[in-house]
Amino acid sequence: MKRILVTGGAGFIGSHLCERLLNEGNEVVCLDNFFTGSKDNIIHLMDNKRFELIRHDIIEPILLEVDQIYNLASPASPIHYQYNPVKTTKTNVMGTINMLGLAKRVRARILQASTSEVYGDPTEHPQKEDYWGNVNPIGPRSCYDEGKRVAETLMMDYYRQNNVAIRIVRIFNTYGPRMALNDGRVVSNFIVQALKGEDITVYGEGNQTRSFCYVSDLVDGLIRMMNQGTVPDLRTQRSEVVESGLPPAKKESFIGPVNIGNPHEHTILEFAEKIIAMTGSKSRLSFNPLPQDDPKQRQPDITLAKEKLGWSPRVSIDEGLGLTINYFKMKVRG
Ligand code: NAD
Ligand code: UDP
Repeated sequence: MKRILVTGGAGFIGSHLCERLLNEGNEVVCLDNFFTGSKDNIIHLMDNKRFELIRHDIIEPILLEVDQIYNLASPASPIHYQYNPVKTTKTNVMGTINMLGLAKRVRARILQASTSEVYGDPTEHPQKEDYWGNVNPIGPRSCYDEGKRVAETLMMDYYRQNNVAIRIVRIFNTYGPRMALNDGRVVSNFIVQALKGEDITVYGEGNQTRSFCYVSDLVDGLIRMMNQGTVPDLRTQRSEVVESGLPPAKKESFIGPVNIGNPHEHTILEFAEKIIAMTGSKSRLSFNPLPQDDPKQRQPDITLAKEKLGWSPRVSIDEGLGLTINYFKMKVRG
């Protein structure tokens, strides 16, 4: 049994992660400032004696005795991370420094929830981990994209400079029950609109692509990544790191970054039609302006996750969407 801190634990992915870690017999400390998370997501865990909830903002330091830290605290949907962009950058930069400082002090292993957004509007397709990305540093998405890129930099520098045991996961679009109804992401928007019989708001012509991963697969990838291997003495590997720009690739020392996502790619238009068909909705499509800097295509190359973690997604889009639609039916119809 380990004591594990999950920041952002009351959010969509965090709540599934807390649940799974408790089911595996661990003690879980869930830390959240409830900006986008909610007590509803974790209410079913409150009676568990191995579960603790702390209301805290990670931009302030905190000292806790833990063995592992999953750093998930950050708004994730464009409307939420653009609501207070300075705070988004602070959360990803100052918050990550605080969590790394904690990891260093109590010698915990720390996993950073990074994102496919570090690839920006990618000029390589599908995206591999050694692609450096095409991010606009001054656009409306930059607070999140650059915040997460700095978070990766901080992870690597605490690793190189202080030997902190780190893991970096680049999460691609993930969906499932407990996504917030109002978070503006495509999966929740389209399902809720379809269930209410409202127009489905396709941005642009809908020919941009995304690849959607069901939340249980993602959580499985996070846990595998956290628990594999040990961190070697960096002093012997410094030149290897500097030359390639990527961390050393020794099997026992794999720290990432690693892509975790489902490579099955859809255009947004196809996706809208799929949701209409699966919900049996009478909704029609409405075409709206494409947001600035919206990436045109996105698909993870998951070769590394397969090789290093033995991970690949298991839940098909039809199965995952079925479960998600059932969840939203409950929420929408009360
Ligand atoms: P979410 O918004 O549901 O969860 C984020 C949680 O972090 C919320 O509970 C929120 O209240 C909390 N939080 C935000 N700022 C905080 C702060 N300063 N201090 C403490 N808590 C704070 O989003 P999610 O989809 O569950 O995303 C979780 C993590 O995964 C995020 O780091 C996100 O960047 C990353 N990610 C998610 C996706 C995805 O498709 N869902 C894709 C890539 C990366
Ligand atoms: N999108 C859309 N209609 C919506 C919400 C999103 O067409 O109501 C599009 C959006 O422009 C993007 C894709 O769906 O191309 C995924 O958007 P989301 O916000 O879910 O994730 P991200 O852009 O961060 O990958």
